[in-house]
Amino acid sequence: MRKAIVIGSGAGGAMTAKMLSGHFEVTILEQGSAFRPLALPIEQLAKLRWTGLYFDERLISLLLPAMRIDRQPELVMVYGRGIGGTTTLATGNAVRADKGLKAIGIDLDEEFDELSRELPITTDHQRFWSATTRRTFSTMQEMGLDPQPMPKLLRPKECRLCGHCSIGCPTRAKWDTRELLDGIRVLTGCKVTHIDTDDCKARRVHVKKGLKHLTMEADVVVVAAGGYGTPDILRASGISCSPTLFVDPVLCVAAPLPGARQGRQLLMPFVSQRDHYIISPYMDWLSFFFNRKWHQPADGMASLMIKLADTEQGDVSKGHMQKTLTADDHARLQQGVEECSEVLMRMGAQADDIFLGTLNAGHPGGMLPLTAAEAATLHSTELPDNLYVADATILPRALGLPPMLTIMALAKRIAKIICG
Ligand SMILES: Cc1cc2nc3c(=O)[nH]c(=O)nc-3n(C[C@H](O)[C@H](O)[C@H](O)COP(=O)(O)OP(=O)(O)OC[C@H]3O[C@@H](n4cnc5c(N)ncnc54)[C@H](O)[C@@H]3O)c2cc1C
Ligand code: SF4
Repeated sequence: MRKAIVIGSGAGGAMTAKMLSGHFEVTILEQGSAFRPLALPIEQLAKLRWTGLYFDERLISLLLPAMRIDRQPELVMVYGRGIGGTTTLATGNAVRADKGLKAIGIDLDEEFDELSRELPITTDHQRFWSATTRRTFSTMQEMGLDPQPMPKLLRPKECRLCGHCSIGCPTRAKWDTRELLDGIRVLTGCKVTHIDTDDCKARRVHVKKGLKHLTMEADVVVVAAGGYGTPDILRASGISCSPTLFVDPVLCVAAPLPGARQGRQLLMPFVSQRDHYIISPYMDWLSFFFNRKWHQPADGMASLMIKLADTEQGDVSKGHMQKTLTADDHARLQQGVEECSEVLMRMGAQADDIFLGTLNAGHPGGMLPLTAAEAATLHSTELPDNLYVADATILPRALGLPPMLTIMALAKRIAKIICG
């Protein structure tokens, strides 16, 4: 049987590997290890906030090794490292976000249909909503913000409404790509550094495993190390990427609200689509621990997230991001802050008590964007024939929306092209 190497086990990698298995002998090379949720109960960890121990977001990896942070002056980048990639930290939102792909002639109807049959996607979670969630929903309806229940990768009956979705689901009620990996060979602790290419072919994949340096060969190589990992591998292999990084920045607007218990409900249960951004209820655990303004009791707090489709300009190199938001990005975020503040005030918050979270982002991508000329092949002309990229790196523009489902649809199509 022919051999395939897939680099990364997140949304793109796991789905490609699943689709290729049976046609190829598949090996996934994954830099991280098995996923473990947050090490200690939130309540215990929250008590330590007053000690000043949580002074740098990067410390979160000590408690949650799969969560990695890259900090720069304007923005904190969050990404997953380990089996399941960033999907283990996702809040389970499963939306179709393919406007940018459609605009360049890529139609993934077939793959989205398959995903809706194969995965536990549901909006049937409203009967489990808390009083605060319901109140926020009706307030946003009154304001004409048209909130809609969020499609979730979720088994609602197994959900404890604990609000931990982004720090590891304790019951696995929330689906992530680890569920695609049964029967697939996954080698953990394997950091791919570069790929030798010649005569338009990928030849050897170079891997660092601890102190060892290994090389591996395959008939097909798929790079799916995420919008943060893939550009480094490609550049080290002599393939150029463009400084068109997008990240979908997130800013939370919060206020003290007695009994709101934002941290004890399903995260992002519904969504309001605005121009260039979305608004959704969200407990921002990163700000809760690492931002002094958030050092308040979790149970007496309400919080809304703004997630922005940012301007596609920025770079990531050797694991570090260079990204500055544009004036348009800032103006759109400010508009979102005003809308969220209005929602909170209608719910009883005082204007002077409203505070903002740390600007952060978790949707890196776009540095080898697909073009209309590549719509049929989904294969960049920059790449050797047997080398594919199947992750957020190939998305042509920022989504301002959860990207997982769209990445998986792309990965499915790419696997079909490879098998075909
Ligand atoms: C807190 C948070 C919540 C989110 N919630 C949602 C949500 O609800 N819905 C949604 O659609 N999206 C959500 N996202 C975003 C979503 O998880 C990512 O966009 C998606 O997982 C990206 O898929 P990917 O395949 O591009 O990369 P990833 O899922 O990040 O996978 C990349 C994999 O490659 C591995 N890797 C990296 N470098 C190397 C290397 N050199 N060698 C070997 N392996 C390597 C990594 O360890 C990782 O496993 C969220 C993100 C965050 C941070
Ligand atoms: S709220 Fe539900 S889906 Fe989220 S972590 Fe808790 S049990 Fe899992």
